[in-house]
Amino acid sequence: MSSKYMLKNQMEDCVWELLDQVLAQYPEVCKCENCRYDIVALTLNRLPPRYTVRVKGEIYAKLAMLEAQHRADIYQALTQAILIVKQHPRHER
Ligand SMILES: [Zn+2]
Repeated sequence: MSSKYMLKNQMEDCVWELLDQVLAQYPEVCKCENCRYDIVALTLNRLPPRYTVRVKGEIYAKLAMLEAQHRADIYQALTQAILIVKQHPRHER
């Protein structure tokens, strides 16, 4: 499929942006790349996607951070995902 357009889930950027802030509150949780991706995937599965259409190759300004209620929802979903991955990391400790 070669189109000049692409879909972008802005929720994904927001989750990555808040990930480190929330992870900082859990010093005992593994922060390897595997676990970070697992946490973000679990979090995104719990949140509604926010798709927008973009033109490939164009530069887009970074989204302003979402409003407070939205951030609270992301924080909550991230926290739940962190606790799940903490209990069931997909690799040896
Ligand atoms: Zn890990």
